[in-house]
Amino acid sequence: MWTLDRPEYSARVTFTTCISNVRDDGLKARLQGVTQAVVDASSAFDAAAQQQTLHEIGRQPVVGGIVTTAEMGKVYADRMVKKGAPGRHIYDDIIAAPPQGRCPLCGQRPVSTLDHHLPKAHYPALAVAPLNLVPSCSDCNKAKLDGIPRTSAEVSLHPYFDDVDGERWLVAEVIETQPAAVRFKVVIPPTWDGTLGQRVHHHFKTLGLGRLYASEAAEELTNIRHQLINLRVAAGT
Ligand SMILES: [Zn+2]
Repeated sequence: MWTLDRPEYSARVTFTTCISNVRDDGLKARLQGVTQAVVDASSAFDAAAQQQTLHEIGRQPVVGGIVTTAEMGKVYADRMVKKGAPGRHIYDDIIAAPPQGRCPLCGQRPVSTLDHHLPKAHYPALAVAPLNLVPSCSDCNKAKLDGIPRTSAEVSLHPYFDDVDGERWLVAEVIETQPAAVRFKVVIPPTWDGTLGQRVHHHFKTLGLGRLYASEAAEELTNIRHQLINLRVAAGT
């Protein structure tokens, strides 16, 4: 998993931008009325993500007691994702952040969507919170689905908060079959705390990264097969 810089937009700016052109006066008043609740939810998310305790964040089906989960879902879909929507430029900026457009969750496939780190269906106050919006490929997005972390071990890695790039945790083993294959597994560095190690295992398993990397490696081995054979002829095993 790759780390990314946090989005430059605050939860307040994003939410107020998204709801800036609501025409229905009643809905507008209710949405404006939960602005602080949305800001507070983002602050709580920020603190919990740093402590690896996102599983402890409470779920609130009606934001501030007045805006439903469905209404917050529409704020995201109609006022942030939709082309021409007031929040669309923020969506575009967040989705364009990964280098070369690669999904930071798997490091392989192209980014095609924003993943809600905590699903908006269960955490509606975080529906347009930039810290909860992670660029991802559609496969990683689907693999996460609306899963809710029940323990700290089940909290997926988050590119704005977690940095696992500093040490080697992914090990490849060559399987001497015809054709040769490569198997990948997670080996946690001894310097990591237990929770981070459990989360990396969970991330690797939930997103099916072992299968993905084995497939990519098989293709690479096919591509360099003749080169390897020539090397062996020239230099021995
Ligand atoms: Zn991915």
